[in-house]
Order: sequence, then structure tokens, then C-alpha cells
Amino acid sequence: MRILRFLRSNLSIGKDIDYYSKFSPSPLSMKQFLDFGSENACEKTSFTFLRQELPVRLANIMKEINLLPDNLLRTPSVRLVQSWYMQSLQEILEFKTKNANDEKVTYDAKKKIYFMFITVLYSFSFTDAVIKIRNRHNDVIPTMAQGVVEYKETYGTDPVVSQNVQYFLDRFYMSRISMRMLLNQHTLLFGGKVKVNPAHPKQIGSIDPHCRVSEVIRDAYENARNLCDRYYMNSPELILEEFNVEEQDKPITVVYVPSHLYHMVFELFKNAMRATMELYGDAMEYPAIHTQVALGTEDLTVKVSDRGGGVPLRKIDRLFTYTYSTAPRPSLDGSQAAPLAGYGHGLPISRLYARYFQGDLKLYSLEGYGTDAVIYIRALSTESIERLPVYNKSAWKHYKTIHEADDWCIPSKEPKDMTTFRSF
Ligand code: ATP
Ligand code: MG
Repeated sequence: MRILRFLRSNLSIGKDIDYYSKFSPSPLSMKQFLDFGSENACEKTSFTFLRQELPVRLANIMKEINLLPDNLLRTPSVRLVQSWYMQSLQEILEFKTKNANDEKVTYDAKKKIYFMFITVLYSFSFTDAVIKIRNRHNDVIPTMAQGVVEYKETYGTDPVVSQNVQYFLDRFYMSRISMRMLLNQHTLLFGGKVKVNPAHPKQIGSIDPHCRVSEVIRDAYENARNLCDRYYMNSPELILEEFNVEEQDKPITVVYVPSHLYHMVFELFKNAMRATMELYGDAMEYPAIHTQVALGTEDLTVKVSDRGGGVPLRKIDRLFTYTYSTAPRPSLDGSQAAPLAGYGHGLPISRLYARYFQGDLKLYSLEGYGTDAVIYIRALSTESIERLPVYNKSAWKHYKTIHEADDWCIPSKEPKDMTTFRSF
């Protein structure tokens, strides 16, 4: 009986995934996020949007998980992640079906009040469900990473699979960033009795309409420096400069999610500090980390420059892959001092945060000298629109295309014997 029920629920969730994956996710702009949180916005609007949009975003990425190699799908970690996604989709869909009456609201005033009351009730318990879902997905990144490690240890590495896994993880983690953004906005705005977040009263949920960029940078630097001091007993100084092109005497601000900016610069500082400390070894003085912030008409740019010896051009792309790190793996039991590096996720995840609102993150290196890591953020909030993966034929083709020979010559190590060309 239980098996039958299990099969039936799996069958129906499969149908739901098929149905919702046919819709494209709807990217929101920074302005729309702010409108959701404005004075006259109500919980019901957010609830109505989320109960359609969350299943769409979940289903789109769940379809894509199924395109991973079978052996990777069979690892316990990936199965666990899949089960979380299924559970969350099921929980959200309960609000869809239970509240179907909502559409039948007639002009009869009594009925209208009754259905409004029911909707408000549902949106209250919806907020609880949203919190539960967000917590369930807290460990998605380490669990997924574990699955990839298990797969690589058992089946080895194959360039085509590695490329597909990299393509998938970029899209999967981007989808996760976007869903957490939606869930966080809803709970921060409607989860408590008051809309204002006591820790950050000027923020609209997680967005600061006047985010002071240099303050976030200094905060991230101090925290990275604490880790560096603990690990290396010393740390490089910070030199921070601002260039506000339009209003030279005003501090640079931007409409942005401070926690995203913090995440990116914190990762860049950890990397810059580690490179500097490793290169200068036991020296008593270390070259400072030079950080420049510039606000133009289109871009807000943050450049973190270190003199930690740089990286050869050949390796730059590799630094953005999810399994590349030159640091020893940190212990999982937390018995060692908090490490500055180790999982190889710092750069690729930071780049996703930058790209999420149409920005980017790039590394430029002068091998033998140092590295410039540059974050680009859209200066205009109207241009900051979510960048979301969509499951469609083009995405599908990425996994199914047979990778043919390269269309550029592969340089051979030994020069060909030129005498063979004489016969031409
Ligand atoms: P974590 O996930 O904890 O950040 P990590 O630092 O090894 O681990 P990434 O931040 O993604 O992972 O960096 C990947 C690798 O790129 C590093 O291990 C290091 O070898 C190289 N790297 C990154 N930034 C720099 C830098 N500024 N100078 C020199 N090498 C760097
Ligand atoms: Mg790092």
C-alpha cells in the first residue's frame, strides 16, 4: 500500500515538473523587487507571484538535473538534493490546489470578504512554508559538491562530462541564488510583525537602495583579515580609493544586495591575502591590497589588486571551475583554524553573484607579479535584472551534443619534418 502511494506521488510530481517546466521563469528587476517591498505592497501580491514562480523555477532546474550522467545521478548526495527539490515543489503546490477557490471570487461582498480572509490565512502559513523550504536547501552546495567528488573518485574525469557538469553547476547554483533571493525577500518583508528589518532599517528586505560600497568592502576586508591573521599570524594592509565620476565629493552608493557584494569581495580578499602571504613567506612586511571603486554612468567597478605573484593565462579559466583549488582540503570537523581557502568554490560562486544582476567578475593576471580581480555591477537599477537559466532545447543540446574535434589546429610539440612537404 505504502509503495503504491509512493509510486503515485512520484508519478504526479513528475507530471507537475513537466507542466511547470514548460513556463519560462520571469526575471525581476531591482525596481520590481523594491516595489514588492514598498509601503503599499501587500503580502498577498507576493504570495500570488511566488506560488506560480517558485514551481516554475524549481521545475525548470529539476528537468536539467535529469540530464546529468546516470552515474552522477545515482550518487547518494545527488539523490538527496533531488529529494529536497521534489519535497519543496510538492509543498509549494499544496498552496496552489488548496486555494483554487480564490479564482472563483464573485461580486457577492460576503463571499469576497470570506475568500480574502482565506487567502490571508494561507499567505500566513505560506510564509512558514517558505522559511521551511529555505532552511531545507541550506546545504545544497556542499552536498552537490560531495556528489561530484564521489562521482570523480569512482569514474574518473572525462573532459566532456567535466564540461557538462561545469555548465550544469553554473546554472543550478544561479537558479538557487535566484530562488533564495525570492524566498528571502518574502520572509524578510512578511515574516515578522513589522516590515522593517531591525538590523538594517533602511533595507527593503535584503536590498539596500543606498548601499555604501566602501563600507561593505571594509567590512569584508576586516573579516578576511581576521582569518588571515589566525592562519598566517599576519596580513596585508588595505588601500581603498573611490572615484565617483559624476559627484566627486559624494561616497559611492548603488541599489544592490549588500550581502551579495560582501560575499564577492570577501572571497576576493581571501584569495588576494593567501597569494600575498604564500609568496612573501616569513617576510615582516607585505605589499598592501589595493582596492579601487569607480562609479561611471553604466558600470560600478571594484578592482582588487594584489602582488601575490599572479597566475599564468593558461590557468585563468580553470580557476572558475568548481573543483579547482591549490589549497589543501580543510578538515570537515572544524578542528583546524578557519581556512582562507580550500573548496575551490570561491571564484565561480562569486562570479554567479556578479552575473545574477547582469554584472560580471573577471581575473586579469600579470604572472610573476600579481592579480587584478574585477567585479562589474550595473550602476543603474533599471539595468539590474535577474539573469536566470531556462530549460529549453538550447539547454538540452548542451548536454546531448556529441563533442567533435576542435575546429582549431592543436599545436604539436615536435615540429613536423619540413622535408615531407617537398613533394607538393
Ligand atoms: P575557496 O572555495 O575556499 O575560495 P579557493 O580559494 O582554492 O577555495 P577559489 O577562490 O575559487 O578557490 O580560487 C581557486 C584557485 O585560484 C585558488 O586555489 C588559487 O590557486 C587561485 N587564485 C585565486 N585568486 C588568486 C590570486 N589573487 N592570486 C593567485 N592565485 C589565485
Ligand atoms: Mg578562495
